[in-house]
Amino acid sequence: MQQHTPNSNLAAPVVLITGGGRGIGAASAKRFAKAGYQVVVNYLSNHQAAQALKQEIEALGTSCMTVAADVSNEQQVSNMFAEIKQQFGALDVLVNNAGILETQSRMDDISVERFERILRTNVISCFLCAKAAVKQMSTRYGGNGGAIVNVSSGAAKSGSPNEYVDYAASKGAMDSLTRGLALEVANEGVRVNGVRPGLIYTEMHASGGEPLRVQRLQSKIPLQRGGEAEEVAEAIFWLASNQSSFVTGTFIDTTGGL
Ligand code: NAP
Repeated sequence: MQQHTPNSNLAAPVVLITGGGRGIGAASAKRFAKAGYQVVVNYLSNHQAAQALKQEIEALGTSCMTVAADVSNEQQVSNMFAEIKQQFGALDVLVNNAGILETQSRMDDISVERFERILRTNVISCFLCAKAAVKQMSTRYGGNGGAIVNVSSGAAKSGSPNEYVDYAASKGAMDSLTRGLALEVANEGVRVNGVRPGLIYTEMHASGGEPLRVQRLQSKIPLQRGGEAEEVAEAIFWLASNQSSFVTGTFIDTTGGL
């Protein structure tokens, strides 16, 4: 088993993946499961995908708990962390992966309501879950330490003009949060890092109104193809594992060179 950062528990380590029912989150859930982690899969509303994933994970010989919760809602996040504490005692790894985007458009066509929705789902969720995780993991609160991995985006650097500046801004905020939090908890046994995926084959692009966006743009990627969710999951797993024990406050761009 891939042993994780300082944790005196004899039980297998526990990972929570937000938005873990599909796409990059689901690939990450399977990657952690293969390494023997007990996996908590959070999702919003797609019960079918979450249940199918739970069966796949359990077939790998580890336990899986699914939790339907809107991670942009403070009460629902609080309930989810209480449930995890009750079931497993300690949380070792948090992957802040839940995220959304909306229809491609220019910034002057984006409403305040949409901008707020994107910020709430992509950044406030990250803040709420990271805050709850720190209170369970940090030695300051009597925890055993742990790792947080935030799933940002290459959009944080490109700004996503004419597509979704709101989404890009939410990911830029997530990067600042990652850096700041990493420095706050560095001497409390908690490492905080981020991954910035580029164009990855998942269902998310359909929400932007272009399911085949990755196929359209793949010739612009230096590696000449889109990325697979499993390739991002590998970076997430590495940042959470003890293999990256001297790494905090930084990012891995999984963008094929873009
Ligand atoms: P995806 O396939 O659309 O899956 C999104 C997941 O997030 C789903 O499981 C969904 O739940 C969940 N979710 C959405 N809103 C939620 C909420 N409020 N509370 C809890 N869960 C919520 O997305 P993906 O492509 O795997 O993206 C995962 C992350 O990678 C996102 O943060 C995204 O911004 C980032 N990213 C993706 C790409 C890409 O090219 N795909 C590129 C850069 C960054 P349900 O299953 O219940 O709907």
